[in-house]
Amino acid sequence: MSGLFFNVSPFIRALPKAELHLHLEGTVSPQTLSELSRKHNTPMPVENNRYAINPDSGSELTVADVERLYEYTDFQGFLMAFKAVTERLRTPEDYELITYRMLQQLRDENVFHAEAFVSVGVIHWRGQEFEHIFEGLERGRITGERDFGVSLLWIFDAVRNFGADEAYKVADEAVAYRERQLAETGKSSVVGIGIGGDELRGAPELFRNTYRYAANHDLRLTAHAGENAGPGSIWGALNIGAERLGHGLNAFQDAELIEHLAEKQIPVEVCISSNLRTGCCKRIEDHPVKKMFDAGVMITLNTDDPAMFGTSLNKEYQLAQDVFGFSDEQLREIARNSFEASFLGAEEKVGFLDLLDAQSTKA
Ligand SMILES: [Zn+2]
Repeated sequence: MSGLFFNVSPFIRALPKAELHLHLEGTVSPQTLSELSRKHNTPMPVENNRYAINPDSGSELTVADVERLYEYTDFQGFLMAFKAVTERLRTPEDYELITYRMLQQLRDENVFHAEAFVSVGVIHWRGQEFEHIFEGLERGRITGERDFGVSLLWIFDAVRNFGADEAYKVADEAVAYRERQLAETGKSSVVGIGIGGDELRGAPELFRNTYRYAANHDLRLTAHAGENAGPGSIWGALNIGAERLGHGLNAFQDAELIEHLAEKQIPVEVCISSNLRTGCCKRIEDHPVKKMFDAGVMITLNTDDPAMFGTSLNKEYQLAQDVFGFSDEQLREIARNSFEASFLGAEEKVGFLDLLDAQSTKA
């Protein structure tokens, strides 16, 4: 999809939007990764790497190298690229830089609010010290919010194939940072937890305790579900308390499930380009985004890993219009969903929805 060049309409550009399914590590542009690779052109130190990664992993990359790295056509290729990025994210300053640049990119897309996953599971797995990394993330968030006026909340993401104990540690960390921030300032940027990774190697039921623990500590719950597994994985995510669903691509294999999602208005974080690039959806015309919308499911549009999929939120909206025939009014409804389905408080949601309404009276 990175080869698709199309013009984004002025309507889409001006539409205030929120992005609810966005991995921080997937926003690292070829330029930034090349920059980081010059800084960290040595393999990850072995003592910091409990699981012995390929020793060639630290090689220096040019922008063209990264562009090639991002040109995969299947899930394995995507995982390799994701790994190449995380291997070059080492210091708190690296995380500060990519957070700041992510907010800058969001501002360019007229995204006013984002809820970004940070792969805390991967940071643990690498044996990296999260404490200082979190300080870097927060510095990037605070300066980015100030400079670009984009609000950002964190969702700590666990990797399901690392198992239930590792996921619990991620939730525990989310609880600790949230409570610390609440005690210090009365507000927290850590809003929830999620599980990502290979659904076939980590059924939702394994994470029931983790989700219960997080919910009991006022964290919100989302889960990648129905991306590379069937409807059973989506029902499983709902059964452990997921309030939003990442992808939900395969929900349509189960009519009862679609009816349930529509009736309960469970938000689905749809990521069209991602599904094509990972091969989870073979042909764009088979993507169920419009069918879900027409069936009354509360969908949102998202980029997942925009730099790695050669997309942006405006492009996803334009793609929805060009390929699936969503009208401007329908796209506005999707933008409205994106604020309503966010984990913001009621008052903040109203503020953003007012912005959206003000834009519609202008148009
Ligand atoms: Zn994702």
